Amino acid sequence: MMQIYRPLNFIGFVYREIRQGLTDIEQMFQLLDQDAEIEDKPNAKPIKVTGPVLKFNNVKFHYDSNREILKGIDFEVPAGKTIAVVGPSGAGKSTISRLIYRFYDVIEGSVEIDGQDVRDVTQKSLRTAVGMVPQDTVLFNDTIEYNIRYGRPDASDEEVREAARLAQISDFIESLPDGFNTQVGERGLKLSGGEKQRVAIARTILKSPPILILDEATSALDTQTEQEIQSALDAVAQDRTTLVIAHRLSTVVNADEIIVLRDGKIAERGNHEGLLAQDGLYAQMWNRQREVDEAGERLRKARETA
Ligand code: ADP
Ligand code: MG
Repeated sequence: MMQIYRPLNFIGFVYREIRQGLTDIEQMFQLLDQDAEIEDKPNAKPIKVTGPVLKFNNVKFHYDSNREILKGIDFEVPAGKTIAVVGPSGAGKSTISRLIYRFYDVIEGSVEIDGQDVRDVTQKSLRTAVGMVPQDTVLFNDTIEYNIRYGRPDASDEEVREAARLAQISDFIESLPDGFNTQVGERGLKLSGGEKQRVAIARTILKSPPILILDEATSALDTQTEQEIQSALDAVAQDRTTLVIAHRLSTVVNADEIIVLRDGKIAERGNHEGLLAQDGLYAQMWNRQREVDEAGERLRKARETA
């Protein structure tokens, strides 16, 4: 009987994750792939976050024992600061965010929030303390209001509207005939990638987690939309302990520290100017990106004049 119950239980777990808006599709598949469900320790306590410092202590991790993914990662995000993780795809960036959320446990070392090992606290409290804006937001088939309020169900109407305003989506919502009562999702109004993303940002502003993870939160968007959303994201990250995982380097220029991950190791670290001066991997990535952006810009101008 246990054999039958376990998968059902697991599907329930995945479903709850999605309902909580904690998960994007990529993560859902990863969860389904996962064979061992992480459990709370019998004496696990709710996490207490007074000074939200996030720390990786010599973290080693693999999904399969024959392939190490993180090979000893050390960094600290001081309370209220922003640290960016950049690097080639497959370097292990999203794995870092999964370890913070405790979708997986580290193999060696530890992940600590405010001095507490994430393995010692309840997962429920951990996931209240940490907010994530994922790459692809899944909206519920319900109203815009419901989708934003999901971040904190007991929020007042004013708070929901204020969050929408900060996420720069309130003008759009108010232009709709049904306003905040507009049905969205598969059976309602189809929102663009940028609009969905702003709903997710509003939800996260409302949740107001002490620790924020943005995992390539804008990579699915075009440059124009990305720039519009960036200021909304900056508003959420303001004074919050933030880990930004970014593909597009323009979004990390202002980070307090940038960590360049390559092959599971920290290859370079520093601020934007310092890393450019090092003339290494980051400088290479930066120059390549600029070329691509400039080519895109030329193409756009050519189309406009044609
Ligand atoms: P990034 O976000 O930097 O692109 P990821 O952290 O997602 O990289 O992945 C790092 C490496 O781990 C990749 O080579 C990826 O294929 C592998 N990987 C990711 N998830 C799993 C998994 N569930 N099982 C096995 N390998 C995985
Ligand atoms: Mg990733």
